[in-house]
Amino acid sequence: MSKPTVLIVEDERDILDVVDFNLRQAGCKVLKALDGTEGLRLAQSEKPDLVILDLMLPGMDGKEVCRRLRQGEGTRAIPILMLTALAGETDRIIGFELGADDYLTKPFSTRELVLRSQAILRRTQEPVSGGGRISMGDLLIDPERHLAEAAGRDLQLTATEFRLLHHLAVNAGKVQTREVLLERVWGYAYEGYARTVDTHVRRLRKKLGELADLIETVRGIGYRFQESA
Ligand code: CA
Repeated sequence: MSKPTVLIVEDERDILDVVDFNLRQAGCKVLKALDGTEGLRLAQSEKPDLVILDLMLPGMDGKEVCRRLRQGEGTRAIPILMLTALAGETDRIIGFELGADDYLTKPFSTRELVLRSQAILRRTQEPVSGGGRISMGDLLIDPERHLAEAAGRDLQLTATEFRLLHHLAVNAGKVQTREVLLERVWGYAYEGYARTVDTHVRRLRKKLGELADLIETVRGIGYRFQESA
């Protein structure tokens, strides 16, 4: 695996420097931006493997940077790890509105940030396991092209949404707990991040549109993909 490139967008210089140092120690190439406009420009020109994006930035804030990255053809699939000073904002950060892949609440431990970053890089650089195309009724999942379609419509999934859909579909008919999904899709299972799974499932259902019912909620346990579409 070649050296992954990580872009950090953060206006607090001490955090920026600490994260920069630790990610370089962990074998990453690091790009830095002190504001949203510069961060967006670097993401578009350099196409990093991961963007670590602070929510509160001067000028263009992290929310807007995230939205623009998700709208851009060449930047849509870049994983985004959001940094926020506000706890309990999960829905807004990784929910419908923003579409980040993961988040960390400040103050965070540098070690955890590095572990999260490595987990994201690992799972997005590895091909989705399970090989071939999956076709169920109107739904088509093609791991080779990283493409998911509903009745011929490209669902335009982020890397994490794609892995989640693929994992659920491969395990159709079997209940997947949030913990298992975190472990298999996100690459780690930390307590307290189960809501990350819920918000991603909600977003995935929204993108699935008329096929949203394929993902069933198993109350108190997790999710199950319907066996036959
Ligand atoms: Ca900030």
